Amino acid sequence: MVTSALRSKPASTNGHPKKIVARKAARPNKTKWVYLFGEVDQAEKYARSWDGVRALLGGKGANLAEMTRVGLPVPPGFTVTTEACNAFLAAGETFPPGMWEEELVALKKIEALAGKKFGDPKNPLLVSCRSGAKFSMPGMMDTVLNIGLNDEVAEGMIRLTGDARFVYDAYRRLVQMYGTVVLNVADEPFEAVLATHRKRRGVENDAALPPEDLKAITAEFRQIVKAQAGRDFPTDPIEQLKLATMAVFKSWNGKRANDYRKAAGIPHNLGTGVNIVTMVFGNMGDDSGTGVATTRNVSTGEKELEGDFLINAQGEDVVAGIRPTLPISAMKEKMPRAYAQFAKIARLLEKHYRDVQDVEFTIEHGKLWMLQTRDAKRTAQAAIRLAVDLADEKLITRPEAVKRVSPDHVDYFLHPQFDPGDKKAARARGDLIAAGLNVSPGAAVGQLAFDADTAEQWARDKKAVIMVRPETKPDDVHGMLAAKGILTSRGGRTSHAALVARQFGKPAVVGVLTLEVSVENRQFVTAAGRTFNEGDWVSIDGTTGEVFAGKIRTVVPEFNDPYLVKLLKWADDIRQLGVWANADYPRDAERARLYGAEGIGLCRTEHMFFETERLPFVQQMILAKTPEQRAEPLSKLLPFQRADFAGLFKAMDGLPVTIRLIDPPLHEFLPSHDELLHDVTALEMKIQAREREGQALSDILSKRQKMLDAVEMVRQTSYNAGIEIPVGLPTREEQWDSLSSMEHRLQVVEVELKDFTSTLAEKRRMLGAVEGMREQNPMLGLRGVRLGIHMPELVTMQVRAIFEAACQCAKDGVDVHPKIMIPLTAHSAELQMEQSILEAEAKRVMDEQGIEVDYQFGTMIEIPRAALVADRIAEYAQFFSFGTNDLTQTTFGVSRDDAETGFLMEYLEKGILPENPFASIDRDGVGKLMEMGVTLGRQTRPDLEVGICGEHGGDPKSIGLCHKIGLDYVSCSPFRVPIARLAAAHAALGDKADLR
Ligand code: ADP
Ligand code: MG
Repeated sequence: MVTSALRSKPASTNGHPKKIVARKAARPNKTKWVYLFGEVDQAEKYARSWDGVRALLGGKGANLAEMTRVGLPVPPGFTVTTEACNAFLAAGETFPPGMWEEELVALKKIEALAGKKFGDPKNPLLVSCRSGAKFSMPGMMDTVLNIGLNDEVAEGMIRLTGDARFVYDAYRRLVQMYGTVVLNVADEPFEAVLATHRKRRGVENDAALPPEDLKAITAEFRQIVKAQAGRDFPTDPIEQLKLATMAVFKSWNGKRANDYRKAAGIPHNLGTGVNIVTMVFGNMGDDSGTGVATTRNVSTGEKELEGDFLINAQGEDVVAGIRPTLPISAMKEKMPRAYAQFAKIARLLEKHYRDVQDVEFTIEHGKLWMLQTRDAKRTAQAAIRLAVDLADEKLITRPEAVKRVSPDHVDYFLHPQFDPGDKKAARARGDLIAAGLNVSPGAAVGQLAFDADTAEQWARDKKAVIMVRPETKPDDVHGMLAAKGILTSRGGRTSHAALVARQFGKPAVVGVLTLEVSVENRQFVTAAGRTFNEGDWVSIDGTTGEVFAGKIRTVVPEFNDPYLVKLLKWADDIRQLGVWANADYPRDAERARLYGAEGIGLCRTEHMFFETERLPFVQQMILAKTPEQRAEPLSKLLPFQRADFAGLFKAMDGLPVTIRLIDPPLHEFLPSHDELLHDVTALEMKIQAREREGQALSDILSKRQKMLDAVEMVRQTSYNAGIEIPVGLPTREEQWDSLSSMEHRLQVVEVELKDFTSTLAEKRRMLGAVEGMREQNPMLGLRGVRLGIHMPELVTMQVRAIFEAACQCAKDGVDVHPKIMIPLTAHSAELQMEQSILEAEAKRVMDEQGIEVDYQFGTMIEIPRAALVADRIAEYAQFFSFGTNDLTQTTFGVSRDDAETGFLMEYLEKGILPENPFASIDRDGVGKLMEMGVTLGRQTRPDLEVGICGEHGGDPKSIGLCHKIGLDYVSCSPFRVPIARLAAAHAALGDKADLR
């Protein structure tokens, strides 16, 4: 009485009684650890959502149960929950109380459903034990098939089936899988035994071995287990089941599962479910088989069943790539009835899950069994086409289609592919060395590395790497992530290498059977006998499956994929943010426009100053002492700038073009201080040397002259006296020659000296200027608006160039919308002063040109103070644009160049910062300032236009923030424009899970 009163009291007084009572009733004190496939309703009630069911049962278990619920042919089975796994691991690897008993009860129930008995030789039930976490982790945790076999059961099964080959094939597989998965025995000795038997019988695959061999192999396998594991293979089926369940649980914490979760960003605390499934046999002869398939082509997106199929084989044979598989289309001829049923189920599953599925199935004596379904992984190209097709087929809505495509998928289209011309040339040269399966598209060029550690090390040394292996294993993931591309000689579309490559967007070619890869010798040999060693360059094309020797040039793909174009249009319909681009040159502007940019959010004028023909004028201007001296070089620069701007206005006809006035400190346009110092010293030394040489030359010259005079005198005297000229006296010609060559050298020395001296004077002047302009912290020095105030002639020239270009373009019929942007404002008074000068110049030009153009003056917000006083700044600025690179530097008080190569990485490793704030806007700090800037600015000027032009404008997460705080547009590099269009749509769709 008392207890029930106490229990009901809070329920009736705390405002939400019903749910608590209902939950208590549905969930008694005892946790349910095991769910039969037929109990999915119960699981859903407990977990409250489909997502919850997936978390509870794991993806594989949840979908097996779901397929059972909709009436598809799934072998009877049950799932031990992820909660049991977590409880097991938390309790130091012991089953939670009651779990094992529940598992045994469930086993009894599937015995009844299957009409067989576990461990009973007269009518034995065999099961598989399969792991399955909430998120699919390909190949991460292993499956054991054929559990329940021992010698007596095997003999019983032979009596029942009359097929000893089949029974011993199943038995030897059990021992092998059990050994490797549960008892941690290495796989090689097993494979070696199989190879020996295959060789002795002269057969290619294990299925062709006769029963007596398989029986002998089973015995040998048990010996291997005993020798390596130090214990016998367990012959008690119940013990087999128990140890297998434990092994799956433990594998959740294994190194390779951990590594994969880290790489894929899957939380470590989800745990895995264990699925116990009645065995169905694809290895019962030629009317049996097994396969894996996707309901559409997940490389291209084409609407066709795609997959691999094997006759007379068990599940893992297809995935392991040991035997050459048949395409799924071959099943149509070989097993038409099963195929028709399968095709129908495939369509049904797509409809049910509203997405393309990746399924596993087995056919036993002509009967089809479904063993797994999940949303298929897909290439970027396919992801976009599938989303568009599914929406066009009305399986999903357009917003859903947009949501299903990720920024990375779009990114693919903006990445390099091989230049077709260069590829053709390579082919003509005979450099196409092999071809395999095109499992993950994209072009990759790199040096061959034969193992994951080498690949990782080389990538760290900034080398481009192609990792090559016979096939990949989960232990190779770190190398695969570090490599530019992946190449394997074995494996199929569903191999580990293919799955991982697709997941992480790495170009990959697998199953290149003609390559003989020797990891020991660190080389591979092609069919034509060409040898490639570690470190050699190769180019692989994951889009076509081709492998080339050497390096092939890459180009960015055409942006005209019709599905991409369509999907981005849908994104445009959804998004509220504008997407503009940062472009300095007309060609960038054109590209941006092609990619869908709706304006230029940032043109950095200073980039134009660096061009060779302009730099001398820029330097002259900087070195000028007076405004008068400055006028001349500025007048030289004006036409250049005018032409630059005219080009931009034409490219962006009808759209806004935001031009930022000069921003960086002027010394950036001058030679570096150290270089100048070095030049000056070198010149001084050269001058000294020439001076010494000149002195020496004139000394010798004057002595020689004297000698010449003396000889001449002797000659004259002798002649006059009628004496013979003394022998050995140099001739006049000889003397003249040596004198004149010396005089010539002296002349050269003097010219050089003059040259060097004047260069030295110039360099010294430049050095003086550079020293005069030297700042301790240029980033916080004379730059931006400060520079404009300090040297108004410069920005006045820029404004004149902008307006002369705009007026001229307007006269030519171009629809121009210049926006003049002043950088680095901190105080409204700066803007007030700068603007009055520049507005006056703008008016002057328009008066001269006799035409008015529509324009705006605005400022960047990139100093915290500007955000804090945005209401005052908005009195002068007609628009704001956040310069989030400088704003991040000044908000954190760090210099990006120093931070990113230094302590910032340490901060990230130590978890002090969750993310690089220069890659993704720091929401709490910088984001707050931005939000304040928007709110304050619009208090003064409700129609204030606000955008962002920092690199962050192309980062999907930052775009989400920009949407949230009400910016009008984001501006990013032309190449990020398509990504920004999609990300802006995602931001507008928000976190809404259901977009149906
Ligand atoms: P993975 O997660 O690596 O795909 P699975 O648990 O799906 O592992 O099993 C591996 C292979 O074994 C699959 O091809 C699957 O079809 C096959 N398999 C699993 N359980 C059974 C079963 N009860 N009967 C027949 N084949 C099975
Ligand atoms: Mg599977």
